[in-house]
Amino acid sequence: MSIAVNIVKIALEAADKEKAKKINSIEIDLGKLAGVAEEALLFCYDSTCKNTIAEGSVLKINSIPGQAFCEACNYQFEADQPYMICPQCGEQVWLINGGKELKVKSVNVD
Ligand SMILES: [Zn+2]
Repeated sequence: MSIAVNIVKIALEAADKEKAKKINSIEIDLGKLAGVAEEALLFCYDSTCKNTIAEGSVLKINSIPGQAFCEACNYQFEADQPYMICPQCGEQVWLINGGKELKVKSVNVD
C-alpha cells in the first residue's frame, strides 16, 4: 500500500509544479526483483488515486528484469528471481545485478 501512496504522492507533487488539473497517467520502472506484485500495486493505486486529481489515471508499469551472470560458464541472462539456475550449464547463480528499481519515470498531465 505504501508504495502506491509514494508513487501517487510523487506524481501529485509533479502535477502541482506544472499547475496541472488532472493526471492522465503515471509511468514507473519496476524491477522484477523489487518484491512488488504488480496486481497488488495496481489495486492499491486505484484506491490511492480516489478523490485526487489522479483519479481515473493509468499506471503504466515497465517491468525491468535483473541481469544474472553465471561464473561457471560466463553466461549472462535475464533474472526475474533472486537466484537463478543457469540455462546454459545448470549451475545455481547468485550474481544478479539490477532488477530492484522502483521509480516514477514520467507523469502525464493536463
Ligand atoms: Zn552457467
